[in-house]
Amino acid sequence: MAKKDEIYDICIVGGGASGMTAAIVSKYANPDLSILILEKNDALGKKLRATGNGRCNITNVSADNYIDTLAYFTNLSILPREEDGRIYPNSEDSRDVVNALIGKICDLNIDIVTGVSVTKITKEKDIFSIIMSGASYSSKKLLIATGGKAAPIYGTTGDGYNLSKNFGHSITKLAPVLTPVECIGDFKTLKGIRSKGILSLELNEEIIFKEQGEIQFTDYGVSGICVFNATRFMKFIGGDGVKPYTLYFNFAPNVDMREFLNDRINKACCDDSGEKVGTILRGLVKEGISKRVSELANIKKSRAISSLSQSEIVNIASIAQRFPLKPVRLKGWKMAQCTSGGITSEEINMNTFESKLVENLYFAGEILDYDGPCGGFNLDYAWHTGTVAGRNMSK
Ligand SMILES: Cc1cc2nc3c(=O)[nH]c(=O)nc-3n(C[C@H](O)[C@H](O)[C@H](O)COP(=O)(O)OP(=O)(O)OC[C@H]3O[C@@H](n4cnc5c(N)ncnc54)[C@H](O)[C@@H]3O)c2cc1C
Repeated sequence: MAKKDEIYDICIVGGGASGMTAAIVSKYANPDLSILILEKNDALGKKLRATGNGRCNITNVSADNYIDTLAYFTNLSILPREEDGRIYPNSEDSRDVVNALIGKICDLNIDIVTGVSVTKITKEKDIFSIIMSGASYSSKKLLIATGGKAAPIYGTTGDGYNLSKNFGHSITKLAPVLTPVECIGDFKTLKGIRSKGILSLELNEEIIFKEQGEIQFTDYGVSGICVFNATRFMKFIGGDGVKPYTLYFNFAPNVDMREFLNDRINKACCDDSGEKVGTILRGLVKEGISKRVSELANIKKSRAISSLSQSEIVNIASIAQRFPLKPVRLKGWKMAQCTSGGITSEEINMNTFESKLVENLYFAGEILDYDGPCGGFNLDYAWHTGTVAGRNMSK
């Protein structure tokens, strides 16, 4: 039961990945501490439940803090399972991660108040007053772990930025990332198609991002992990003036398309098979895509391939292997999985995550100026910053 008249040793605003971790680590390090978590949602870890499509991709073998993260979860009796470098709980159920964290918080007698939105924090004579509608709490140390602005349905509506600004902190430019991309053109016929290949992002004929993966067509453009990861490099599109980015997708990266088409033409000429452009394309890319490729190349699918000129072959090959997509804007905060930008790193001691401006004020998680690609990197950062802040607050 949280006590309004007590001065807590530590108060944590935000009961997500980093906030829960900081509470557990602080209390482990010093069991005498009184700790309070204040959470806006009616339960802790609401966003965590939705992560990794309900499987919670907790870290990645390539993440900076992979070893520490594994040790943290082993201590919480969560057995890891690896899949292409991504680490999930062995049960592949995010609820098990959330329940392990909440179970530990309860075992450690950490106080929790849910369903409260902190609106203001002040500091007077070394004591923080944490204010919300109809109540306030006091503490000696304070952690702001309110996440960013991505996916506000989970409580992350950017409140932490204003709370931090009131202490003089500055915020770098914020943008939604790991989000689908709206593109120019009619996508209605392509909607629902998923295809594997290589995505590249180009700006002024320079490749600025390239990744192998699966692209998913939607009725407004494209989605999928490789598209999400590309948005980290095109984050201000549609905001600060549209930059002339182009996405290209190679539907058949392991094929010399020109050689393939020429072989087919030679074969068609020899045996007089009358093979059609549509038949060949269908074997290379999915049905809806083959239609779009022939439209873009301005070559009817019904044409016999033996009638194709060299320049037409080059054109078909180049469209299938450099399928152009012209982004107009990124889907916004609602659909984003992460926030780019945050509290300026120069104002924070990055070894402790304590503010350089206000003593005993700490930050952890997505509110900081960090964003990683899909694959467990953002949660890895949340566990890491929560651990370091928690350990230092306990001193
Ligand atoms: C759909 C989805 C899937 C994702 N999947 C993955 C994945 O598989 N792997 C990965 O690495 N990353 C994933 N991410 C990103 C990852 O979830 C976040 O980066 C991470 O949760 C950030 O941790 P955090 O502690 O900073 O914030 P959060 O976990 O977002 O927690 C912040 C908490 O603060 C609370 N809060 C906010 N304002 C207030 C206030 N004023 N008063 C009180 N409480 C407040 C919020 O309600 C929230 O519970 C995903 C994100 C989304 C949206």
